[in-house]
Amino acid sequence: MHHVPCLDCHFCRRGSFTMCEGFKEFGFDPTGYAEYTRIKRASRPDRRSQAAGFGGLRRGVSHRAVSALVSAVRRSRVSVTDTVLVMGSGFIGIIAVQLFRIFGSGLVVVVDNVPEKLEQAKRHGADVVIDRDRENVFSRLREVNEGRRADVVFNTAPAIQAAEESVALAEKGGAVVQFGGTSPHESIPIMPYEFIKSELSFIGVYSGSHIDANVVLSLLARKRLAVRDLVTITFRWSG
Ligand SMILES: [Zn+2]
Repeated sequence: MHHVPCLDCHFCRRGSFTMCEGFKEFGFDPTGYAEYTRIKRASRPDRRSQAAGFGGLRRGVSHRAVSALVSAVRRSRVSVTDTVLVMGSGFIGIIAVQLFRIFGSGLVVVVDNVPEKLEQAKRHGADVVIDRDRENVFSRLREVNEGRRADVVFNTAPAIQAAEESVALAEKGGAVVQFGGTSPHESIPIMPYEFIKSELSFIGVYSGSHIDANVVLSLLARKRLAVRDLVTITFRWSG
């Protein structure tokens, strides 16, 4: 675990583990691709993750982003009749598609402008893909979704325009989950009246807790999450 909550502060006691001050400290020193690293006692892999084959450093897997995705999908409160729109079909977007399928969702639509990435999204469970360079996202979404916008808009794109567009693409009573990290200096205009009238939620997700990480390890161990063909580069260990 890169990040471990203290389990003793105000935030941990209310289950908001990723807001714990201790959680924000890195459990490894140094980080990155160092041959050796020191690991804080609390960050050491447990027997369960070792059994799943993800314990040792040599076969280490960074599940941090996927844990955050589990947290994000949970917090979207998606249900089986919800139409989900995933903005961005990179690694994050494709794992999100799989997780929405696992947690239970209705139609899953993915938006991107790279045809190969959209094909990959289809292989991983997207019902409909929209190439934003060739199609109008709004009209195509309405066309495939009985004239409605999406109940959950899951935005993985870091561009600020995508955040604004995500709000516009969310249906009444729905939620926008902001996952892509935008610049801290950028903002979008929000009309509180629209949020009241439409009962919209805008949900920010910073990271996943040890509970979400446990879900990820379980899904990987049971091979319910397909990650192998998402690997873009492999390093040979020469140590
Ligand atoms: Zn804490």
